[in-house]
Amino acid sequence: MVRSIKYIFVTGGVISSLGKGISAAAIGALLELRGLRVSFVKLDPYINVDPGTMNPLQHGEVYVTDDGAETDMDLGHYERFTHTKTGQANNCTAGRIYHRVITKERRGDYLGGTVQVIPHITDEIQQVFLDGTRDCDVAIVEVGGTVGDIESLPFLEAIRQFRVQKPRNDVINIHVALVPYIKTADELKTKPTQHSVAALRQIGIQPDILLCRGEREMPGDIRRKLALFCNVREDCIFGARDVESIYMMPTYFRSQSLDAKITELLNIWSREPDTEPWDRIVNIIRHPDSRVDIALVGKYVKLRESYKSLIEALNHGGFANACRVDLHCIDSEELETMSDEGVAGCLGKMDGILVPGGFGVRGTEGKIRAIRYAREHSIPFFGICLGMQMALVEFARHVCGWSDACSSEFDEASAHPVIHRMASQENLQGKGGTMRLGAYLCDLAEGSLARKIYNKPRISERHRHRYEVNNALRPALAEAGAIFSGISPDGSHVEIFELSQHPWYICTQFHPEYQSKPTDAHPLFASFIAAALRK
Ligand code: GLN
Repeated sequence: MVRSIKYIFVTGGVISSLGKGISAAAIGALLELRGLRVSFVKLDPYINVDPGTMNPLQHGEVYVTDDGAETDMDLGHYERFTHTKTGQANNCTAGRIYHRVITKERRGDYLGGTVQVIPHITDEIQQVFLDGTRDCDVAIVEVGGTVGDIESLPFLEAIRQFRVQKPRNDVINIHVALVPYIKTADELKTKPTQHSVAALRQIGIQPDILLCRGEREMPGDIRRKLALFCNVREDCIFGARDVESIYMMPTYFRSQSLDAKITELLNIWSREPDTEPWDRIVNIIRHPDSRVDIALVGKYVKLRESYKSLIEALNHGGFANACRVDLHCIDSEELETMSDEGVAGCLGKMDGILVPGGFGVRGTEGKIRAIRYAREHSIPFFGICLGMQMALVEFARHVCGWSDACSSEFDEASAHPVIHRMASQENLQGKGGTMRLGAYLCDLAEGSLARKIYNKPRISERHRHRYEVNNALRPALAEAGAIFSGISPDGSHVEIFELSQHPWYICTQFHPEYQSKPTDAHPLFASFIAAALRK
């Protein structure tokens, strides 16, 4: 039987950062618990073809998928909250849409025609709705930005056109807007939401459901007022109040029966969801058995969003141990100028130290200092990507005695470039899309800590980097005690570096954080937090 796919379009109004992505992901989680297969598309109105070259301090982290797409971090929420696997087709920017249309125009596909936003750009956008949402029962399409922005207009127009071509119960629009609390008046205000719904309706989109973000619960009279002014049924107006943790959203929406309303509007018959996995997490968040202090030593610590997946994976590691993770973000640059006592004061009380990925030389010497401290003081240590590369530099300098050891990313003249650009990668030009990206297989050495933790011989993990361990120096490093416990199946790439005679010291060239879920913590993060707990 061929069943039609049901579509939920999620837009946002009033301001950005209302948690549209989390709301979409939480709705997806509930629909999955109802036995439905969900998939997601995120549309971003900016002109970059993908977020790969954007500074994480501007746009948060770049999320990498199995197929090597550099995508918006909302795809990370979708994968963490559901079992969907996202990829290139699930994130599309205005830049990519225009790029496709212009490529077609140059090829002569529209010969004789004038190429316009309507219908050419809007047709291309509708194609994205279809391409990103195959093999599912419900497709959730989130539009980045805020209604009223010039940039998002073509996306909204495409949604309007798409809906009129579909049967009545196959498409709904959910609008997330702000209902602020004004302290001096002691009142919740509906006007911003009224305005953003008016802007949507002007484009021809009538929201079916309103999710009202605010500091507090919405009383009935506010709901009635919104219903009246926004032309939305009262029972289709839901609260999206601030909660302590994003992982409370599925149970919070469920408590209002949002999932039941969505399936009713889409005319889907499905079972009642069993939210037990989420209830268990909420319970751990509220009543953890224990707590650990973890230091995150990085360069982008001023904006936590730039380490989103990583911070979430640490939390998941905590959930696996019924434990709360207290994160201490330490600016690696500040460690560079500190006295030894200062460093000890900063890191000595930590139960675990993590050095994440990054680009550029700034702060790398501080990272090396943190890694040395962790190694010499037997503090559980986890190095990821650049964190692994710097750990190997630290090992080469202080254990092998190669004082000039470095990565050729930072010192081209070093006689001991333990990290370098492989010959096979040197012909890649420019910065956009020139990295080893996406999922690669890795074989784990028998008897290693990594093998014990994963409990299987072969794994697949995601990558995003240009530089690699230098194979020419591998034997000498191994001689000095470096254990290369994860290697690509053809033997050409070092994927994991670990040390024995240390409570827990593992570094990965890949990014395990991209595959961790709250309901299924990544084994390395679960094990790292367990080691931190033992300290
Ligand atoms: N800058 C390093 C490289 O390109 C590490 C990248 C990362 O940490 N993601 O290899």
